Order: sequence, then C-alpha cells, then structure tokens
Amino acid sequence: MVEPLIVLKDLSKRFGRKIATNRISMSVRRGEIFGFLGANGAGKTTTIRMLCGLTKPTRGTGSIAGLDIWKDRFRVRSKFGYVPQKFSLYGDLTVLENLRFFGGAYGVPRSKLRDRVHKVLADMDLELRESERAGRLSGGYKQLLAMACALIHEPTLLFLDEPTAGLDPKHRQRIWDLLYEFSQQGTTIFVTTHYMDEAERCTAVAFIDQGHLIARGSPRDLKESLSGHILELQVEPAMTAMFEFRKLEGVYGADLRSGNLRIHVEDPNALLRSWQDHWPFPHLKFLGYSWAEPDMEDVFQAYSEGYYRQHRSRKEPAELERTS
Ligand code: ATP
Repeated sequence: MVEPLIVLKDLSKRFGRKIATNRISMSVRRGEIFGFLGANGAGKTTTIRMLCGLTKPTRGTGSIAGLDIWKDRFRVRSKFGYVPQKFSLYGDLTVLENLRFFGGAYGVPRSKLRDRVHKVLADMDLELRESERAGRLSGGYKQLLAMACALIHEPTLLFLDEPTAGLDPKHRQRIWDLLYEFSQQGTTIFVTTHYMDEAERCTAVAFIDQGHLIARGSPRDLKESLSGHILELQVEPAMTAMFEFRKLEGVYGADLRSGNLRIHVEDPNALLRSWQDHWPFPHLKFLGYSWAEPDMEDVFQAYSEGYYRQHRSRKEPAELERTS
C-alpha cells in the first residue's frame, strides 16, 4: 500500500481557552485534490498553518512525506507551496520581481530561476502582465500571481486557503482548471473553500466543525450518506414555511431551492405519515413532495449546521471512505 503523503494524529491547537483544532486524525493520499471544509471559524486555517510549520501544535503530531510538520519544518518547507488567505505580495514590485523574490526565498537555483519564472508566468496567464506592479492587479490576477509565487519551486504539494474567495466565475474556473492540470502532473492539492460546487470537484473532502473532524470521504459517498433524508416540498407560502420547518423537531435544515422547500430530515417517512393524519400548519398549503438527490450544499448544511452535533454520540467521526 502506498504511504499517505500527509498523516495527522490527534493534531490540536489551543489559543488560551479556545481549541481551534481538536484532535484531528486523518490522512491525505498522494495525488488527491483534498477539500478541507467547514464553517467560518471551524479551524481550517489553523490546521493548514500547523501543516505548514507556521504555528506549533499544542498536542498530537503531523507529518508530510514522513517528516514531522514541526520538528522538521524547515526541511518540509521545500516540499510544498502555500497560498494563504491573505497572500503578502509585494505591491510595489512588478509581477516579475515578485516571482524572482519568491524564487530566491524558496531556494530555486539561479540557473533554473529564469525557466521557472517563464513557466509559471505562462501557466498563470500572466505573461502580458509581467511588468505591472502587483498592487495594481485585479483580485483575480493577484490570486493567480500568489499561486505562481507558491509554485515557483515546483512543489509536489500545494496548500491553498480559499484561493477563489471573491473571484468571478471565470477566474474561479481558471484556477480550478489549473488545479486539475497540477493534479494531473502529480501535485497533491489541499484546498479550503466555502463554495460547494468546488467541493464537488475534489476527489476527497473532510468536514471540520468547531475544531473536530466530523466526516471524510469522497463527495459521492458523503452525498450518498444523506440519500433518503432530503425531501423537496411544494408548500405555500414557501418562505414562511422555511422558517416554520427550521423549528420542527427532526428537521436539520430547511432551505429554498427553485421555489420549493428542501428539508433535511432524520426520519422523512415518519414525518410524511404523520402529515397524512394531521398537517400541523393551518396557515401553510401543502401541494406535494418529491425526494431530492443530495448535493454538496446539503452535505455542508448537514455536517456544519447541527446534524452531526445532535448525533455526536453515534457519529464519531463519520468515515465514509470506500475501501478500494
Ligand atoms: P474561516 O473560514 O473564517 O477562515 P477557519 O475555519 O479557517 O475560518 P480559523 O481561522 O482556523 O478558522 O479559526 C478557528 C478558531 O480559532 C476561531 O475561533 C478563531 O477565532 C480562533 N483563532 C485563530 N487564530 C487565533 C489566534 N491567533 N489567537 C486566538 N484565536 C485564534
């Protein structure tokens, strides 16, 4: 069996009384596009910063390619590129100067630097902008430059913390196309995102909630875990119904989708049966229902907004990976 590239055992980080990352154990295989998902403040950035050797774990261990993420942090650094949420580009330097600077900082030999700069400029569609000051680039091009800087030393592992936040769909697509290309060339990608269409593009995802790892698996397996629990109701008025259903016992999420009310229910059949006897909302008109195929939005809602917390005792954590 091939050794995983990243292995975490009980990895934890405490800031005073706050436990940002709470005993996370998991692994990431070589070549995966691994999506690290969770609500704001769930602990994603803290975990990535520990992986990158930028902050010391308060408990547990982690390794990248067999090297300890803290004790061997200076050796590990040459193996990965890191695009943080707020990348510190040098705004007064040009695109080219930034790349040369980061090339030097990452220890790219002078004899190779020129070729590497040209390669990442071409990959990131930045060739026509090489003389522009980084501070004057649009958000999308700044992000592409940040990726170029992180890739200058040809890392085989790339950490990206919300690389597409705030970008338009065209730039988001561009960045994902690039991630696919790197993945095809053998680079392992570890990415955080709040966009569930992006989570769908990952080969594996993990959810964290309040520092805890609560599920890990392929998007398909995570969606299948909710199969038979998502109902789409035609109810009028739909918006009033959404707020009413959110208060209903056994309903973990209620949202509007194309005018219908999509609910995530622990026991939908019991709920439907109970409505045959008694529809409990006299001010709402029930017009019908259908079963919905769960998507990653449903999965995110299920795992980050309560379902897991209410079931913590019997789901610790959900390991939904197929054994192949
Ligand atoms: P987001 O999606 O909003 O970026 P996140 O999942 O990346 O969130 P973290 O930034 O890792 O979450 O934060 C996890 C928790 O740890 C939060 O409650 C945050 O306030 C806290 N935290 C992070 N860094 C520090 C710090 N240096 N000192 C104190 N608390 C911190």
